[in-house]
Amino acid sequence: MGRYLEASCKICRRNREKLYLKGARCESAKCAIEKRNYPPGIRSVVTRKTSEYGRRLREKQKLRFFYSVSETQMRIYFKKALQLKGIAGHNLLSLFERRLDNVLFRAKVAKSRKDARQLIRHGHFSVNGGKVNITSYTLKAGDVVALRVAEGDGFMLTRLEGVKEKTLPSWLSYDEKEKSVKVLHIPTRDEIDIPVEEQLIVEFYSM
Ligand code: SF4
Repeated sequence: MGRYLEASCKICRRNREKLYLKGARCESAKCAIEKRNYPPGIRSVVTRKTSEYGRRLREKQKLRFFYSVSETQMRIYFKKALQLKGIAGHNLLSLFERRLDNVLFRAKVAKSRKDARQLIRHGHFSVNGGKVNITSYTLKAGDVVALRVAEGDGFMLTRLEGVKEKTLPSWLSYDEKEKSVKVLHIPTRDEIDIPVEEQLIVEFYSM
């Protein structure tokens, strides 16, 4: 499946929820959800009853858009989640949350996940000392993401300046001296701030 090219704000409006796809704009009054919190389209004011299937589909799509992954990737992640110990829905969220692009976004190094993907593809970061340019790279507990020394230019250092002042999720820490972000532990469901009902996603793929 190719990339989903619909405007990011329309995706949020269709879900009637902020999915934070556009960085700083999402926190501002310019956010489309703040201004027009109804689905796009002329008939959007008509409220339709959603079926059980529709609810499950919507949660699945929400997660997919949140992390910008294709349907094929979603299915691969779901298979992996089923193979891990524990609750499948929690495993699924944990796998997405530990993607390298998401970690850079959560650590406030990147303005959005899209921004993070661009930085990674340009080879600005290393994991445990080795260059990584795969945006979906899954991090483990103890992994350290650092700005590559050769890339330690002014532009990238500016990105890291504000990190210490912001609140990082409890499963991440920032080493100011080394300019690196460490994964302290695998995030639990309570530590993953995402407005989805993962059980509905598990039900969707189990139908
Ligand atoms: Fe969604 Fe608002 Fe961000 Fe647009 S600005 S992507 S509507 S959260």
